[in-house]
Amino acid sequence: MTLEQQDKQYILQTYTRSYVNFVKGVGSTIYDENGKDYIDFASGIGVNSVGHANKTLTKAICEQANNIIHISNLQVIEPQVKLAQKIVELSGYDMGIFFANSGAEANEGAIKIARKYGEIQFDKKRYKVITLEHSFHGRTITTVKATGQESFHTPHFSPYPDGFSYEKSIDDIYKAIDDETVAVLIELVQGEGGVQPFEKEAVQKLAQYLKEKDILLIVDEVQTGVYRTGEFLASNLYEIEPDIITLAKGLGGGVPIGAVMTKHKEVLSAGDHGSTFGGNYLSTTAGLAVLEVLSGLYDNGLIDETLLYFSNKLRMIAAKYENLFEKEVGLGLMRGLRAKSAQIQGSIIKNAMAEGLVVLKAGRNTVRFLPSITITKKEIDEGFIRFEKVISSL
Ligand SMILES: *Cc1c(COP(=O)(O)O)cnc(C)c1O
Repeated sequence: MTLEQQDKQYILQTYTRSYVNFVKGVGSTIYDENGKDYIDFASGIGVNSVGHANKTLTKAICEQANNIIHISNLQVIEPQVKLAQKIVELSGYDMGIFFANSGAEANEGAIKIARKYGEIQFDKKRYKVITLEHSFHGRTITTVKATGQESFHTPHFSPYPDGFSYEKSIDDIYKAIDDETVAVLIELVQGEGGVQPFEKEAVQKLAQYLKEKDILLIVDEVQTGVYRTGEFLASNLYEIEPDIITLAKGLGGGVPIGAVMTKHKEVLSAGDHGSTFGGNYLSTTAGLAVLEVLSGLYDNGLIDETLLYFSNKLRMIAAKYENLFEKEVGLGLMRGLRAKSAQIQGSIIKNAMAEGLVVLKAGRNTVRFLPSITITKKEIDEGFIRFEKVISSL
């Protein structure tokens, strides 16, 4: 049997996947079983933040695996504490952290914190959470309900939990708030929804308003966090101080980890929340190595340099191929080209593989770029040479 046939026999077919079999990666170049190389402009959907086979990360993981991979949250876990401290210091927010294993789980934690806050803080319990259209918050029953895309709320999985509604725009959130609203949950740059950043002023105004009304602002930074937008958190870039922030994708460099951080450290108490794997030795050691690498680059101005270089390239392509693209969108190293049709988007994603380039889609017609934060100029150059080959043959 071929690998494709085995996949179809043994794996539940929940993804439309390609059958390129990758076996090795170095930096932002990955190799398939035939030795063909691909430039990785996707980084595993924003996960491989330090690229493939990063020496600092793999060394830390190997050493940790040789000592302890896992004990349990019934004992203190030194790398977990250190990672939390590092995240707090880099963010500049006085917050406490709970570690989970994925973005959806981090958002579940955020919603639990919000709901308990809504109970202990007010005479009449507040529990409603407002989100935005085109958002994406995860695949659990609750986070999929929080996701503002009707197509995700199929009746197959109903009934869904109550208390979630979504609005078209930030301006619409104000009039959707009622006396049962406990929180507003947003991404600052919608990733899956089409790489769409919100206006800084509009976000700051919303944050200010929510603070006055004692409504929590939850920022889903599962995709935008860990230097993706050029700052440690997109919340830093937007100069806001959310009540709750969630992280996941880039934090472990490929080792599963999620985190929910909040300034309301007293809301959850013993027994309120938990996770068997969350924050174990392996994942938090990986997180520490990732932050060591990336904070070092940031301090030397190298992340800024990379994102400027990448965005200049993208801008040139958008200008040169106005026949294919409406515009260039996104922030930092979270970028997209809005194609003139879904068909153009589809052909690009498909043909790119043949040219040795991995790119992603987002929304209905956006080609999405989520390179690793450590991508080199040489890899960027080569990726765009391949990208131009793909689009010039359309
Ligand atoms: C990917 C993503 C999630 C879900 O993360 P999982 O690890 O797949 O559960 C949630 N929110 C945002 C903004 C994401 O990009």
